[in-house]
Amino acid sequence: MKNSVAKSQPIPTISLKDVGGLGEEMKEEILQTLSTLKEPDHAIKLGITPPQGILFYGPPGTGKTLLAQAIASELNASFFSASGSAFNELFVGVGASRVRSLFQAARKQSPAVIFIDEVDALAGRRKAHGGEEAEKTLTELLVQLDGGHSNDGILFIAATNRKDMLDEAFLRPGRIDFSFHVPLPDTKGRREIIEIHTIGKSLAPEVFASLDGLAESTSGFSGAELHSLFETASRRAVRNGHEAVQKEDLDYALDRTILGSTSRTLKDH
Ligand code: ATP
Repeated sequence: MKNSVAKSQPIPTISLKDVGGLGEEMKEEILQTLSTLKEPDHAIKLGITPPQGILFYGPPGTGKTLLAQAIASELNASFFSASGSAFNELFVGVGASRVRSLFQAARKQSPAVIFIDEVDALAGRRKAHGGEEAEKTLTELLVQLDGGHSNDGILFIAATNRKDMLDEAFLRPGRIDFSFHVPLPDTKGRREIIEIHTIGKSLAPEVFASLDGLAESTSGFSGAELHSLFETASRRAVRNGHEAVQKEDLDYALDRTILGSTSRTLKDH
């Protein structure tokens, strides 16, 4: 039985500029949070307690992982990431020991960000969760989050598509201090994300000129889908010997992306 479930990565190189469609208010809140984490002594003098834990919640593919990486990068912090489901085990005590190992490993490499995606699999409501093993694992997570000074230099970031499933004890301030909703991007957000994912790509002038329209016509697309749209279009362009992404490559990629998605409201483009 493996005790370590986290992928420890060096300090990520993602910046907040790589995350599009956040909206001014959220960007401002994240920057403020970062400044309290960068200068905790200053924040404390002003009566502000820097957060220990942050939650990002919202639909899949909206940039929650990207945001966690960007925050780690801004803080010059090592990045430990794991999926909540990796703590689920049949044997009582194994999940709890994995949680402990994760925090211990991160403390050794502080400053560090611990990122847990699909945290609902680990910190779901106790009643719905069921089972002695799941209960023990969640209790261990709460114990580790309450670690006091041993958590100095550790920021816990969790992400979920199902905030409603999370245990209230987990969401308590001191454990999770801020919850940020990361929604599907609006037109302006999609335009920003398209910009991010087309930088450095060769686009035919016709495609370049159509990007505003594309942002308008891709209602319901997540950032991940916009990313995959341009990856697919670029791959097709290469396969067909095009020097730049042509309209036909993009149309092909749009069809593929729409086919791959079940609920989509795509206006004519
Ligand atoms: P999940 O809930 O499925 O774990 P997520 O919200 O964590 O998804 P990410 O893993 O951050 O989504 O996104 C996957 C990829 O999609 C990113 O690496 C990036 O290329 C692209 N992407 C998603 N959202 C954005 C965004 N807001 N800005 C720029 N790129 C984005």
